[in-house]
Amino acid sequence: MSTRRHFLHQAGLTTLALSLPFANSLAQESSQKDQRVLRVALMGLGSYATRVAEAMKTCTKAKLVGVISGTPSKIELWQQKYGIPPQNCYTYDTVAEIKNNKDIDAVYVITPNALHKEHTIAVAKAGKHVICEKPMAISSQEGKEMIAACKTAGVRLLIGYRMHFEANTLDVVKRQRAGEFGKTLFFQGLSGFVIGNPSQWRLNKALSGGGAMMDIGIYSINGARYLLGEEPIWVTAQESKTDPVKFGEGIDETITFQMGFPSGATASCLSTYSLNYLDKFFLSGTKGFAEMQPSTGYGPIKAWTHSGPLQHPHVTHQTTQMDEMAALIFDDKQPLLPVDGEEGLKDLYLVEAIYQAVKSGQKVSLPR
Ligand code: NDP
Repeated sequence: MSTRRHFLHQAGLTTLALSLPFANSLAQESSQKDQRVLRVALMGLGSYATRVAEAMKTCTKAKLVGVISGTPSKIELWQQKYGIPPQNCYTYDTVAEIKNNKDIDAVYVITPNALHKEHTIAVAKAGKHVICEKPMAISSQEGKEMIAACKTAGVRLLIGYRMHFEANTLDVVKRQRAGEFGKTLFFQGLSGFVIGNPSQWRLNKALSGGGAMMDIGIYSINGARYLLGEEPIWVTAQESKTDPVKFGEGIDETITFQMGFPSGATASCLSTYSLNYLDKFFLSGTKGFAEMQPSTGYGPIKAWTHSGPLQHPHVTHQTTQMDEMAALIFDDKQPLLPVDGEEGLKDLYLVEAIYQAVKSGQKVSLPR
């Protein structure tokens, strides 16, 4: 891993074509502070970063201006594709140098889960705001260290919870908060997909920190919390495994879990790497219900309540997310659903409690 990350810096970044007009436009942008465009570098140029980069083309408040990668061929490609100048290209070993780059405001960490902590702290030390993908880390201890590092550095830490800005989701949340469903006492969350290539990092505990729960089950955890509007006080969980070779030690294939809330509400959820088309939320109350399917995929999200379907037009989630995050950073806008480090940490506490419940077979209590 480190070998492919060591060689790059001197290896000709400066020889890659610099688009002078682009550089000039960056300088202008920097000086026109009233534009408040969040200038973002993406770290880890994999499949999700590619999706984010495409989505950012239509952002109005955020702009892709830089990359951090361990793969020189990707840097070259991204420079050409997104007009990124060589002085905004970094490797994992040169992240500290971003400190001196006035054209980058924030770095979006989109690397494997187990690298989030190291990468987030490196970016914070370079004095740049951090947007970090979910799960924010592979343990709550790591999450706390990330929050502390960003606080010490005086930079923001935001977690890539794109659903927190999605219109249908926010509509259901507002209806729940307004009492439209009465007392909401039950949530069902089903989150899963069939995972392919057995050699990918998601099935390597050292890089993923866990299996389906860390990757996709976390959507049901998060969804239960934002749709019920409460924090769980206990969890129970059960694991099943059909393929112990593909899903080795520490990589959960399927976990069913239940969460209990202070109001008496309960959540019943399924997290799996072995079923496709599993993306559904159901919220039931004394006066009505909301159902979402798909509920957290890239969209369009489909949602309906006892009163009929919701009709929000589809907007690429990552476009909205990045524009909204720019507003959070520059204008200190308060979102309806938080996306800060503490929010990421709450999900990690629950992931840990679920793993503990699987292991012990016991109900695990959580502090109120
Ligand atoms: P990919 O494997 O497609 O990309 C990860 C990238 O990280 C690689 O391409 C590589 O980029 C970089 N990297 C650095 N070190 C390593 C290493 N040791 N092994 C492998 N890759 C490395 O993963 P995804 O893009 O799918 O996922 C990345 C993160 O984004 C995860 O945390 C995941 O949970 C999250 N995610 C979030 C989604 C959402 O909807 N919010 C959806 C999908 C993923 P390079 O070659 O440039 O160094």
